[in-house]
Amino acid sequence: MTTSVTTPSQASHATHPSVHELEGSAAFTRSEAHTAHNYHPLPVVVANAEGAFMTDVDGRRYLDLLAGYSALNFGHSHPGLLRVAHEQLDKLTLTSRAFVHDQFADFTEGLAALCGKDSVLPMNTGAEAVETAIKVSRKWGYQVKGVPTDQAEIIVASGNFHGRTTTIVGFSDDPAAHDDFGPFAPGFVTVPYGDLAALEAAITPNTVAVLVEPIQGEGGVVIPPEGYLRGIRAACTRENVLFAADEIQAGLGRTGRTFACDHEDVVPDIYVLGKALGGGIVPVSAIVADNDVLGVLRPGQHGSTFGGNPLACAVGAEVVRMLATGDFQRRAAELGEMVRERLEGLVGHGVVGVRVRGLWAGVDIDPARGSGREICEALMERGVLAKDTHGSTIRLAPPLVVDADDLAWGLDQLAEVVAG
Ligand SMILES: *Cc1c(COP(=O)(O)O)cnc(C)c1O
Repeated sequence: MTTSVTTPSQASHATHPSVHELEGSAAFTRSEAHTAHNYHPLPVVVANAEGAFMTDVDGRRYLDLLAGYSALNFGHSHPGLLRVAHEQLDKLTLTSRAFVHDQFADFTEGLAALCGKDSVLPMNTGAEAVETAIKVSRKWGYQVKGVPTDQAEIIVASGNFHGRTTTIVGFSDDPAAHDDFGPFAPGFVTVPYGDLAALEAAITPNTVAVLVEPIQGEGGVVIPPEGYLRGIRAACTRENVLFAADEIQAGLGRTGRTFACDHEDVVPDIYVLGKALGGGIVPVSAIVADNDVLGVLRPGQHGSTFGGNPLACAVGAEVVRMLATGDFQRRAAELGEMVRERLEGLVGHGVVGVRVRGLWAGVDIDPARGSGREICEALMERGVLAKDTHGSTIRLAPPLVVDADDLAWGLDQLAEVVAG
């Protein structure tokens, strides 16, 4: 529960401390003292949250414009998700897949139906789901397509973000993600994102899959040219290659549709899902595909101790039920139109470019106004939490439950900050 009664319009500059004050706070310095510094967090120390607002250890409220990188699409402390999680916590939390539990069918049946596919393979984190898609694609390549042993190739796109395992960072072109973590797994071919001709030219008889994000979130909400996803679909069908769409950040309502691929009426062979699938409560990921693909796996060939556990399935099944109504998707689309209008109005006023799809935006800040980090710090001092990506871009991904007035207020803060 939130403890503060501050309304967003009252959350003026004066009520929030400066970045320097927060950096010097005991709560922050203690949090930094005994951890690897693999993140550079804004120095707010959050204690509780509800809906689109987080409250720090001193009771100050902040509007959350990141939503856990879209893991919190349904907002913090969503009552329906909390109820399901609490109920399941008291009943059964883990069996391992050595035994069957009573939450598994609801989740797999529901998610398969949401995706229009036969079957679900549940994992925990997004990176594990991507690894699963890679393994399934390779096995499919050898057993169904007839690719010679160990010759399978997977085509990926420049600017990708698919997670942090050693295999995945091997085909990242972000030096921070990639450098000094080799040697890397072979079998990946990188083509420029959005360039269909380059992708088609890279397909060989040994290509088993194309793995792309339908919109690149970490890359800065990069939307490919219209027709790109349809073109990938057609090329994959023509060349007998699997289309694996990494919808971990783009999917599950964020873009105003259930999946980002829906904007081009495209159905991939493999949906790769995570983040919001766990309702911001537990890590839940999955790949979803038809049986001619997932059927290549036999007992013992893949798995995860926690994958598909009862708590994860109970929460995941509720997420699927919430998405099945279409309400969250509609809300994302409606609020997204407001966001688009407001952000496009900032171009030329401290902003050099914006990309918006649903309730998801990449805002390129005029470097003369400061780095993305500096803009996010200035927003924090006004009670708004957002995250920069790749230097000068700010990614906005509010919880889909955000109140329209609160969101408008947050955008006002951004407008004032970038105006300098
Ligand atoms: C976040 C993300 C991942 C990795 O998910 P984790 O849960 O952090 O392992 C993979 N792909 C995309 C597109 C993502 O946004």
